[in-house]
Amino acid sequence: MRLGLFGGTFNPIHFGHLRAAVEVREAFELDKVLLIPSARPPHKDADDVADALDRLEMVRVAVEGVPSLEASDIELARAGPSYTIETLRYFQNHFGAESAIHFIVGQDAFSEITTWKSYQQLFATAHFVVMARPGSRLKGLEGFIHSHISRDYQYEPASNRYVHPRWSCIFCVNITHLDISATQIRELTRQGRSIRFLVPEPVEDIIVKKAFYR
Ligand code: ATP
Repeated sequence: MRLGLFGGTFNPIHFGHLRAAVEVREAFELDKVLLIPSARPPHKDADDVADALDRLEMVRVAVEGVPSLEASDIELARAGPSYTIETLRYFQNHFGAESAIHFIVGQDAFSEITTWKSYQQLFATAHFVVMARPGSRLKGLEGFIHSHISRDYQYEPASNRYVHPRWSCIFCVNITHLDISATQIRELTRQGRSIRFLVPEPVEDIIVKKAFYR
């Protein structure tokens, strides 16, 4: 099983996330990509975050009918803050050693990884797929990896990845980066402006019906 895990606050999920998930799934020939909303994001201001069950519901309706994309409630089922290391270990135990787990992350989130719990152990647990915008060369990534993760990571240009003698790979991938953020969607909603074509329609319907981000 080649599994992609795409974690986020998804407050709300938008077409930027969805397009990224589709492109990474195809590029890495993943059997499926699970989109995993965090229950209690340790790094976000809780005031503006919709309830976890509602964010999960928005992810569910967003991927309905999309082959190989699925919503996962794994972080909601666990008590306490949502730590990626625990999620990766869960899937590693669940799918066994023969599965190849790819944790998908934008470069913005990756550059904050030193603030994540047990972050160095993440690289012993799963491959990382770091997404950049086309044209941007993941600037500073090598220096960041060497100074914060491990000096033993070596770049392999042919496969655009960093390999380590004992740990998993860090892959770089250029995706069509749609310049959409959840912050922008919340702000537009607050101003009573349209969010059409930034999120799937069923997500928009939930935001309107439940009066989120007002
Ligand atoms: P916010 O604006 O509230 O900070 P966000 O839109 O950045 O939210 P998150 O849920 O924080 O969304 O992001 C989850 C993951 O998706 C992160 O790895 C982030 O880098 C990535 N991501 C966010 N926006 C995009 C986008 N437009 N295209 C591709 N990846 C994205």
